Amino acid sequence: MKATLAPPSSLISLPRHKVSSLRSPSLLLQSQRPSSALMTTTASRGSVAVTAAATSSVEALREGIAEFYNETSGLWEEIWGDHMHHGFYDPDSSVQLSDSGHREAQIRMIEESLRFAGVTEEEKKIKRVVDVGCGIGGSSRYIASQFGAECIGITLSPVQAKRANDLATAQSLSHKVSFQVADALEQPFEDGIFDLVWSMESGEHMPDKAKFVKELVRVAAPGGRIVIVTWCHRNLSQGEEALQPWEQNLLDRICKTFYLPAWCSTSDHVDLLQSLSLQDIKCADWSENVAPFWPAVIRTALTWKGLVSLLRSGMKSIKGALTMPLMIEGYKKGVIKFGIITCQKPL
Ligand code: SAH
Repeated sequence: MKATLAPPSSLISLPRHKVSSLRSPSLLLQSQRPSSALMTTTASRGSVAVTAAATSSVEALREGIAEFYNETSGLWEEIWGDHMHHGFYDPDSSVQLSDSGHREAQIRMIEESLRFAGVTEEEKKIKRVVDVGCGIGGSSRYIASQFGAECIGITLSPVQAKRANDLATAQSLSHKVSFQVADALEQPFEDGIFDLVWSMESGEHMPDKAKFVKELVRVAAPGGRIVIVTWCHRNLSQGEEALQPWEQNLLDRICKTFYLPAWCSTSDHVDLLQSLSLQDIKCADWSENVAPFWPAVIRTALTWKGLVSLLRSGMKSIKGALTMPLMIEGYKKGVIKFGIITCQKPL
């Protein structure tokens, strides 16, 4: 496919506090923040210019994400398989589900997300799909099998792209799906070519949410659907400018390990989509449906096989495992929300 540069991001009009929560360099990974003197932004005629220092922090974040997934994907696949995302459970389901129960819950997450977005199996209109932040390609291979669609996945991790392509070949799907290293914020695709733009748990890594969303919209075909399933912080109440310090502190600790910039809320995503005049914008909070997931991941990490694999995998995996209880705490205290946001690009 011809490579075209993404259009420059222009800031869309949002309330002032939302602009700063979506665009300021405070979005950058805490441990990679340069000195505060360099981290100033300048607002001019509604646009926020990010300094050179912030740009290099974005670069450092990108590298950190790539290294994190290069190191941890093999371990995840060994224990959990090829879907690197939460499972979807009935709110009252038992947390003692078998391993296959968790895998089914992960497939169900894909199915529920498609259903929520109005994409059904009978629908044959889904011919081309981009899987933005594809991991090792679990979603792409599933969607290609279900819809016969052609899927292209992008990831920052060369290890993931290679493994995703190898799995596609092993499953005789390489004529339908392919994977490459590319940045979601500057996708190497022409405008308007994908019937389905799919981002399963990658949005939380994006340092510039407005640019991310604009890029998803740019590559979507007219009438195409966009699905964003992502970690969010709670919606701010009316008049509230920011999270409470203890809430921010909790998220910052998670950011350091999982290579995340600052978070935003589900309603921030909705505002972004509204500002781009998208249609049929819908969102939901699925936090209750994912509640059994992290306790299950922790249980598998504490098995003999899990511990040995963790130690073999390296420090990033070990730090990741130690951070998992913070995810549970965040959900329990209502700071972290598991959000789905979908919409359709006008014809
Ligand atoms: N969607 C996959 C993987 C989720 S893990 C699944 O559900 O199995 C998060 C993924 O987002 C990783 O593959 C990571 O490389 C990717 N990612 C994070 N930031 C990215 C960026 N800027 N551009 C492309 N991929 C990105």
